Amino acid sequence: MITNKQLADYIFPEVKETIEDLEKRYPNRNLPEGAEVTRFAPSPTGFLHTGSLFMSMICHKIAKQTNGVFYIRLEDTDTKREIEGSGLELLKQLKAFNIVPDEGYLGDHEIGNYGPYIQSKRADIYRVVIKHLLEQGLAYPCFCSTDDLAEIRKLQESKKENPGYYGKYARCRDLSNEERMERIKNGDPFVIRFRSSGDYHNKIQVHDMVHGDFEIAQNDQDIVIYKSDKLPTYHFAHVVDDHFMRTTTVIRGGEWIASLPIHVELFATLGWKAPNYAHMPVIMKVDENGNKRKLSKRKDTEAAVSYFVEEGYPAEGLIIYLMTLANSNFEQYILDNKLEGMDNFKLAFDKFAIDGSLFDMGKVNFFSKEFLGKLNKHEITLRAKAYAEKYNPKLYDLITRDEKYFEEIMNIEREKENPRKDYEKFSIIPDVIGFFYDDIYSELIKEPLPFNEKFSKEVIASTLTAMKELNLDLDEQSWFNNMKEIAVKEGYAANNKEFKANPEAYKGTVGDVAELLRITFTARKNAPNLYYVMKILGKEKCNKRIDTVISLLK
Ligand code: GLU
Repeated sequence: MITNKQLADYIFPEVKETIEDLEKRYPNRNLPEGAEVTRFAPSPTGFLHTGSLFMSMICHKIAKQTNGVFYIRLEDTDTKREIEGSGLELLKQLKAFNIVPDEGYLGDHEIGNYGPYIQSKRADIYRVVIKHLLEQGLAYPCFCSTDDLAEIRKLQESKKENPGYYGKYARCRDLSNEERMERIKNGDPFVIRFRSSGDYHNKIQVHDMVHGDFEIAQNDQDIVIYKSDKLPTYHFAHVVDDHFMRTTTVIRGGEWIASLPIHVELFATLGWKAPNYAHMPVIMKVDENGNKRKLSKRKDTEAAVSYFVEEGYPAEGLIIYLMTLANSNFEQYILDNKLEGMDNFKLAFDKFAIDGSLFDMGKVNFFSKEFLGKLNKHEITLRAKAYAEKYNPKLYDLITRDEKYFEEIMNIEREKENPRKDYEKFSIIPDVIGFFYDDIYSELIKEPLPFNEKFSKEVIASTLTAMKELNLDLDEQSWFNNMKEIAVKEGYAANNKEFKANPEAYKGTVGDVAELLRITFTARKNAPNLYYVMKILGKEKCNKRIDTVISLLK
C-alpha cells in the first residue's frame, strides 16, 4: 500500500524542509505590545485602483500609529494578469503619496527578514506546506480536466445544488494512492486540492474589525491550492505568507469576505492562529443616473490613481480626502490642524462606513485647493515644475520661460492668512494664468471679448484710454481710490449706492470699469485679483494691451 508520505515524497522529492524549519526561519516578531503588522499585497496588473491606494494608506497608518510594521508583498501568482515592470511603477506611485513600506518588496529590491516578498519567489516555501498537507491526507492531487469540471457543474445545475468541487462531487478526493501514483507516473496533468472538512450547512462565527461579529457558512470546497503551472493560488499563498510574515492584521478589500471561510479553515487546519481581519468598505459613486455603484476601473477616470497623478493633484489633497472617507471625524481634525500632518490622529476600524463609502470629487477638489493654497510661492512653483516636467509640456514651458515671473503669478493673494484657493490641480494652471504670457494672450483675444453689451465701443475706448493714467506704484487701496477718481471723472458712479440712486446720471459704476480692465488684460471675466494682474504685467504692458483692445474694437 502506498502511504500519503510516499505519495508526497513522490510529488515533491526535492522538498526536504519541514514546517518547523520555516517556523524557525521566520520567528515571531519582537515588537512592542499592541504593534500591528500590516501588509499591502497588490498584484502587478499595471493599474493602481483608488480603492487600493485607500487600503495601502490605511495599512500604512495603522502600522505607524501602533509602532508596528507595514510591508508590501507582491502577489504575482496569476501570471496571465501580470504586466511586466508594473510592480516598480506601483511602488513609485505609492511613494508619490508618501506611502513607503518599512519592509518588503520595494520595486527593484527588497528589505526585511521575512522574504522573499514576491510570491513567485516563494515556491519552495509553499511546497513545504503543501507537502505537509499531502502527508497528512489534508490535500490530494486532482486530475479533473476542464471538461470534467464543466460536467460536474452541469449536474449540479440540474439538481439545483451549489456549484463547486466539494463532497460527493469531489471526484478525485477518494482515489486510492495507488491510482494517484499511477496517473502521475503516467504524466497525467494535475492540480493539488485542499481537502475541506467543512459543511456548507454549518455556520461559523467570524470577527472583523470593521464589520464586527457575523455568521457565515462554513467552507466545504476542496479549493485548488497548487496549480498545474506549479504556483499556488491566492487563497493558499496568502495564508502561508501572512502566517510566516507574521502579519497581525489583514486589511483588504471587502470583496474577500465571501472567501473568508476558506481562509479561516486553512489557518485552522494548519494549526495556525489566524490574523485579525479588517475588510475595507467598497468605494462607491453615484453615477449619471443617480444610482450608487462601485467605482469602476472601466467607467470612472477617478478609479485610477494615475488620473490624479497625471492631472497634477497634490498627493496630500487626495490622501486627506481618503482619510476622511475612512473615518469621518478626520475632517474636523485635519481642518483644526490646518492640514498639517496626521500623526496624532488615531484611525479606528470601528468608525468605518460599513456600507461602502461614496467617492466625492468635489471634496477631493476642496482639500486639494486648501492644500495648494497653503504653499508659499516657491513651494508651489517647485511642485508645479516637477509635475509639468513629467506630464504637462505646456505648463513646463510657461514655468521655465521665466521662473521668477511664474512665482510672482503664483504669489497673487498667497502667503497670507486667507489665501486664494484657485487651483485644485496643476493641469489647470495654464488655463487660469495663460493670459500673463503675450503669445497666449494674442490667441485669447482672437475670440470676441466678453464686454458688457451696455457699453458702446466708444465708451469702452474712452474709458480704457483714461485708465492709462492709473498709477500702479501704490498700495492696493490707494490704487483703487485712484481708479475711482478717474472713473468718476469719466462719468461713472463711485459706488453702487450712488448709481442706484440715479442710474441715468452715470455710465455705470467703478465696478464696471474694473471689469472693462479685467477683460482687457486677461481676455476673460473671471481672473485673479486685478491689482496684482496689473502689477505683474507692469504699466507698459497694460497700456499696450489697452491699445490692442481698442484697435480690435474698430
Ligand atoms: N492580491 C490580492 C488583490 O490584489 C490581495 C488581497 C489581500 O490583500 O489579501 O486583491
